[in-house]
Amino acid sequence: MTTMLGIGLDGRRVVLVGGGSVTARRLRRFVDDGADLLVVAPELSPEVAQLVDDHYIMWRDRPVAADDLVGAWLVHTATGSADVDAQVVAWCDAQSTFCINAGGGSHGSARMTAQTRAGDVLVGVTSDAGVDPRRTARVSESIRALLESGQVSLRRVRESAAGHVALVGGGPGPVDLLTLRARRLLAEADVVVADRLGATAVLDELDPDVEVIHVGKAPDHHPVPQERINEIIVEHAAAGKRVVRLKGGDPFVYGRGGEEVTACLSAGVPVEVVPGTTSAISVPQAAGIPVTHRGTASSLHLINGQSGVTPATLASMKDDSVTTVLLMGVKSFPAIAERALAAGVPADRPVAFVESGHTEHQRTTRTTLAAAAEAARRAGVRNPAVIVVGEVAKVDLLLPATQDPAPASVWSQDLTG
Ligand code: SAH
Repeated sequence: MTTMLGIGLDGRRVVLVGGGSVTARRLRRFVDDGADLLVVAPELSPEVAQLVDDHYIMWRDRPVAADDLVGAWLVHTATGSADVDAQVVAWCDAQSTFCINAGGGSHGSARMTAQTRAGDVLVGVTSDAGVDPRRTARVSESIRALLESGQVSLRRVRESAAGHVALVGGGPGPVDLLTLRARRLLAEADVVVADRLGATAVLDELDPDVEVIHVGKAPDHHPVPQERINEIIVEHAAAGKRVVRLKGGDPFVYGRGGEEVTACLSAGVPVEVVPGTTSAISVPQAAGIPVTHRGTASSLHLINGQSGVTPATLASMKDDSVTTVLLMGVKSFPAIAERALAAGVPADRPVAFVESGHTEHQRTTRTTLAAAAEAARRAGVRNPAVIVVGEVAKVDLLLPATQDPAPASVWSQDLTG
């Protein structure tokens, strides 16, 4: 029978007998563990030689002898000779040192696990029966996939003083645009502080006892002021909770993520930021608009429509090699367009309004600068929308004029007609 243990190898002597490919693989793992490594082998494969070189690992270039194992906490043998491996196992048994026999046939007194990690949680897979590394690797891969799916709660049960805040970018909406890191942090979270936009459907998948605090603006509700949001995340983290501040798009693109980082740091709360897919780029993309299309636009100017027009924005709109992207701009766009026309931006500069990108309500309205205000009014364009001004917004640039892509659609060209 086997008991699985987590053992700390940091600074402890681990001896690897043999210089082939199995040794190379294990060396990488033990190097990461911080072990005090010794390799004993008459010859090294180029791979092992490289590792020995790169990590200043001790190498005794001769056949193994019993005294090589003195002082070892753990020995790994993979010499290519079953007899030598068996001899190493016997020496280890005699001196009460655990030994992994990777030489095939029988295990030694210890066995490797196929290991997978989700944050600080490690899962190892091994077997009581004979050695079958491909099998354990496959089981381990399945477990990794499960952990990455976010379906396994990774929440700490024991109270800890170590609270933590993660500002997590949730992308423009669909849960499958969340990153693996975002999913893991959500699976670890005690408290989730959520906006209105972004991957809010993921909240339904959380453990029922995860505290969800909505701070975004909902119809008929005022949003929680930013100062209060800062307090909420800091207070919970200071109480030892793992806090995820789930934000739409990317935390650092008009997300006030910078202020939240500052609030955490000045309260002495550890904070990390997980990037998300920003609507500024991904919402135009969903409508078939590449914000920098080779030969059409070589740079990108991003603005918050609420903060008015600056000379830089007017210059961008005038320049046909620049794409101007406006977030939060639905209400102010008519005034912005008027200013731009007055400043000499061409009246036929293409404009696209992309509403609710990447959701089932996605809709694109294509127009020109001169006609934009009226077109938006007639179509009833509403928030959330990304507005693209520039040649990349031209009808027909990539897709036929008739094809308004559905979210997550696969684009294809109909060559039969
Ligand atoms: N941090 C976010 C932006 C926050 S500002 C990001 O990186 O995406 C909020 C604005 O983002 C909205 O007013 C709208 O302009 C845009 N937006 C967010 N999600 C959107 C979506 N699914 N479709 C269209 N626009 C969206």
